[in-house]
Amino acid sequence: MFDLNDQQKETRAWAREFAEREVLPRAAEMDRSATYDRAVIEAMFKAGLMGLLVPEQYGGRGLSALEHATAVEELARCDASTALVMSIHSSLVAALIAEFASDEMKDAVLPGLASSKVGAFALTEEDPSVPTKADPAGDAFTANGTKMYITNGPVADLIVLFAVTGVTETERDGKVRQRDEVSALLVDADAAGLTCTQIDGKMGLTAAPVGRMVFRDVSIPASRLVGERGEGLRMAMSMLNVGRIGAAAMAVGIGQAALEAARSYATTRVTGGRPIAKFQAVQLMVAESATRLEAARALTYQAASAADRGEPISELAAMAKLFASETASFVASKALQVHGGSGLVRELHPVERYFRDARVMEIIEGTSEIQKLVVAGHELKG
Ligand SMILES: Cc1cc2nc3c(=O)[nH]c(=O)nc-3n(C[C@H](O)[C@H](O)[C@H](O)COP(=O)(O)OP(=O)(O)OC[C@H]3O[C@@H](n4cnc5c(N)ncnc54)[C@H](O)[C@@H]3O)c2cc1C
Repeated sequence: MFDLNDQQKETRAWAREFAEREVLPRAAEMDRSATYDRAVIEAMFKAGLMGLLVPEQYGGRGLSALEHATAVEELARCDASTALVMSIHSSLVAALIAEFASDEMKDAVLPGLASSKVGAFALTEEDPSVPTKADPAGDAFTANGTKMYITNGPVADLIVLFAVTGVTETERDGKVRQRDEVSALLVDADAAGLTCTQIDGKMGLTAAPVGRMVFRDVSIPASRLVGERGEGLRMAMSMLNVGRIGAAAMAVGIGQAALEAARSYATTRVTGGRPIAKFQAVQLMVAESATRLEAARALTYQAASAADRGEPISELAAMAKLFASETASFVASKALQVHGGSGLVRELHPVERYFRDARVMEIIEGTSEIQKLVVAGHELKG
């Protein structure tokens, strides 16, 4: 088992207590209605959970990546939609501002992100062949385009938009190549010309507010540039590494919930006069699930610990996200199997929710295929 120190254990216990008290009682209804309960976001702000990665000087908790991962895991164990809301806000938006923004922007934005303002990270394009543009003119950029599947979009106050702000030229082998110059811009959700519609009908993470965001001549002051112009892609990739540890932690949390459900059902369900836990076929499903889950957790914590030591995390984060999301799907599928017919009925057991939520984890924050490409890029470089 991965050894957490006392402070890390305390953070984890605190997050578990919060999740069981504030999130778990609402999880089934939020899933059924596919509607996120704003009261949970307010409760997370009040408890300090939305500001875990915001430095203390800006009103956050200034915690380590490992502690953040344990908190995300505990939220996901109770409700994966809630974990996604928190993890995107925290590990992609707040952490990006804390890492790359000017001191002036940090002063202006971080206290809000720690206390009341929800952040969204708008990277994925509806049509990658027509990327969102933000044309510079005078002291402002004008954004046009459509971003897709943006978590927190429908409830966000602040959006980090990644958009093409020009073209850069690079020379290689005597040939000049042109490349889109991508920059990150901070946009207020109520900016004129910006609309966001909720995407309904997701198979999993149904309650997570995910939106389609349309920018039509949205004017963004040049002062809202995050970091340097043209550095957007580098910043996005760097944050996605952090975000992938959060996604891996989410998957571990879903897997943990599914394993606990399988264990509990196996010991109480009686067929042929014996609890089904006495049947070797059931024991094998639980044993394999527990083993894979422990390995996924170790890999996730290892990636988070490497981040805390300031080591390169790209490969480890991709491995953790890949392995943990596929493990969550495996464990949730086996938990469903252990429940027999009753596992299919959401009014009876939450395992079918775990199964649907786990499957989504293999796609968001980079598909399994993309994680493998990242790992291969490290293993086969040179
Ligand atoms: C619930 C949810 C929340 C999300 N939240 C956010 C968010 O907050 N912000 C944000 O910016 N995005 C968000 N996303 C988008 C998510 O990150 C993307 O859906 C995901 O990365 C896959 O991209 P895509 O949908 O464009 O699929 P595509 O890139 O079109 O991929 C389609 C298929 O092709 C494969 N493929 C694509 N390119 C390659 C390649 N080069 N090599 C091999 N195979 C490839 C993929 O693996 C996949 O199987 C969210 C998505 C969901 C479902």
